[in-house]
Amino acid sequence: MPTTSELTPILIVDDRPENLLALEAVLGHTKYKLIRANSGFEAIEYLEMNDCAVVLLDVQMPVMDGFETALRIRMDRKTRNIPIIFLTASLEDVNKMTKGYEAGAIDFLYKPFDPEILRTKIYFFVELYKARLENKYQADLLRIQDEQNVNSLLENALDAVIGMNAAGNIIYWNTQATNLFGWSKEEVLGKLLSEVIIPERFRQLHQKGLQHFLETNEGPILLKRIEVFALDKKGNEIPVELTVSPVMRDKNITFTAFVRNISDRKKMEEAMIESKEARLKVEKLAENLKDAIKARDEFIGICSHELRTPITSMKLQFQMAAKMATQDKESVFTKENALKRINLANTQLDRMIRLINDMLDVTKITSGKLEMNFQKLNLKTVLEDVLERFDEIFKENKIVLNYKPLSEDTFVSGDKYRLEQVISNLITNAMKYGSNNPIDVSIANKEGNIELVVEDRGIGITEEDYEKVFVKYGRACSLLNISGLGLGLYITKDIVEAHKGRIFVKSKIGLGSTFTVTIPGI
Ligand code: ADP
Repeated sequence: MPTTSELTPILIVDDRPENLLALEAVLGHTKYKLIRANSGFEAIEYLEMNDCAVVLLDVQMPVMDGFETALRIRMDRKTRNIPIIFLTASLEDVNKMTKGYEAGAIDFLYKPFDPEILRTKIYFFVELYKARLENKYQADLLRIQDEQNVNSLLENALDAVIGMNAAGNIIYWNTQATNLFGWSKEEVLGKLLSEVIIPERFRQLHQKGLQHFLETNEGPILLKRIEVFALDKKGNEIPVELTVSPVMRDKNITFTAFVRNISDRKKMEEAMIESKEARLKVEKLAENLKDAIKARDEFIGICSHELRTPITSMKLQFQMAAKMATQDKESVFTKENALKRINLANTQLDRMIRLINDMLDVTKITSGKLEMNFQKLNLKTVLEDVLERFDEIFKENKIVLNYKPLSEDTFVSGDKYRLEQVISNLITNAMKYGSNNPIDVSIANKEGNIELVVEDRGIGITEEDYEKVFVKYGRACSLLNISGLGLGLYITKDIVEAHKGRIFVKSKIGLGSTFTVTIPGI
């Protein structure tokens, strides 16, 4: 604040020393510091470097009169508001004075002037001057305090704070920035921010973004928290969270960035993700285990049921044979009767063997050990051999088989035993689910692929179950009344695929199913 001991400067301008003396006589011995100027030039020269509360300006001066001097004072931005009191002897001057001086305060005094009026006028302008000084002082004080507060806030912020100007140079760098990046304030001030902390691969992007903002005022990353990588002094990339705010300062745009190291948070997040993944894996394993145990229990249940049926039936045959033998009647215990019982028991035994073989195959497939012995085979011959073996059963069950032998050969590279298994599974199913209707079997060479088709006119499969029937233990739900383990088609598919072939089904409920197997010919 200006102290009272400081004298208020007042500029008195007159070419006549006696007039200056007269003014000093009136205003001297007061709190004013009177500065003499003998001409308009001197007055302007003084004002270039100094301030004053008011200018007392004589109008009648040689070379540059009071009006011209006043005009020049008004033209300079620094001095245009300094109040001027013209000293004049003529009323005409007063008229001139009131025109052309819009800016700043002006007043006038007639010569010879009344000392009391002069003192009063001067007092009034001096008070104005003091008030102006005080306001400015308060405003400066507030600004300095604000700046100091902001600076100390930024300096002590927990985040790194970096200032950048519109050219991309660093203009501010707080202690945390030094801690985070390793560069001292002195090392980086004035340097391009992009070259100091932005990894090379992002520099162009940064430059473009800055340019775009300066041209359009659009900055998609401004005033948002974003996660990026920054470079430290050693060249390490650090994950950071960044907020950039544009700041308008004295008509210049600058940017303030708050940067926070999030390495620890990232590590924690990663650890959390990992532990979550591990937990999910364990949960999945537990789930799979549960499913496996459930499937095993169901399997054991079905197996016992499936095995009990032929065993019971076999036992019945043996009991009947034993009964016949003990009856001691030759008419009952005939060779034919005995053979009939033995054959029936044999059929059940075959069924049991098939079941046990299927189970063994599944175990082999699961452990990846279903071995194949590939050799050149005529698939047509394999098919006809199997059909011949089924001939008796077709006849017994009064099932019509439609098969037109093919003249063409159908060579494939295959395992004879396994391909027989494929065909026999499909035919067994066609009989089992074919409602005793005729079965159509065909084989053809289709553009190098050998295509084998088994078609029945039985109960059919819904489209939703097409895939399910090829899955381990997969059975079409409506068929639980027909016994089976749900393994045959699973094994069949595995064998076909081991031959680089494909198997698929097309079916209509109540109308029948068509199973097609294709294997590459050779
Ligand atoms: P299983 O006959 O022992 O159940 P499969 O694996 O041979 O096992 O067959 C799986 C399921 O596919 C059967 O349970 C049955 O629902 C269905 N399926 C198979 N073949 C036929 C067919 N020809 N017609 C209708 N459904 C069939």
